[in-house]
Amino acid sequence: MEFRKAERKQAKLKLGIAGVPGSGKTYSALLMAYGICGDWSKIAVIDTENKSADLYSHMGEFMTADISAPFTPAKYIECINSAVEAGFKVLIIDSLSHAWSGEGGLLDMQDKAARASKSGNSYTAWRNITPEHNKLVNAILQSDIDIICTLRSKQAYIMTTDGNGKQNVKKVGLEPIFREGFEYECTVFFDIAQDGHLATVTKDRTELFDGKTFIPNEETGKQLAAWRNSGQEYKCQVCGKAITPDLYQKSIKKYGVPLCSAECKAKYDEQSGK
Ligand SMILES: [Zn+2]
Repeated sequence: MEFRKAERKQAKLKLGIAGVPGSGKTYSALLMAYGICGDWSKIAVIDTENKSADLYSHMGEFMTADISAPFTPAKYIECINSAVEAGFKVLIIDSLSHAWSGEGGLLDMQDKAARASKSGNSYTAWRNITPEHNKLVNAILQSDIDIICTLRSKQAYIMTTDGNGKQNVKKVGLEPIFREGFEYECTVFFDIAQDGHLATVTKDRTELFDGKTFIPNEETGKQLAAWRNSGQEYKCQVCGKAITPDLYQKSIKKYGVPLCSAECKAKYDEQSGK
């Protein structure tokens, strides 16, 4: 057992921004994306909201790809991979909520699986759907690109019991529409309030925004990029190309130095005498 110095594992920013329709999620996401990379042509938007990103085309020449129903995780994953391959710096997924509650999304898939099963058991149907959910979350978290996910928020309720044992439904603010827990996977997760478009952070690995209330904008993106750049850099030692934290760890383990996949292959060939 060997201890190593703790370091930032996430070389890429994975951000979430939740709010009700009209709260300014897309606008804030675009401003943050520009703050992060400083180049509109390097920003891609996956648009599930009926070409709503086009409403912001005056801001800069970013690129969009439309996803329409069915909103399967596979479609999202394909778009994420395409954005990485095309060399974009920041990808905005607007919105991730459609992969959960949209037509053909994970809840729909689960519902269909439950109906198709003999038992009609919705709980066991999750066994088949959870891996699909995990694939999508992993694609977001592990892809070699900064990603901003927007999520729709809805009113959350809890059941309470009063002194007489009577049950009541109580409003408890807003919650993002996606499987619970996604916010904890993000570098920073912003919640935009219903009034005033002001955001607070519900999860913040950077500690940049603790206790602050603000409208996420270009400056927010710049701060996040600066935070990221001050941390561990994941680069190939030979060509200097950025590599994923995963490949960073693997190549060091195997060859003693961080290497990109091409250099790993060259090393492998060299060692196996090809
Ligand atoms: Zn290399």
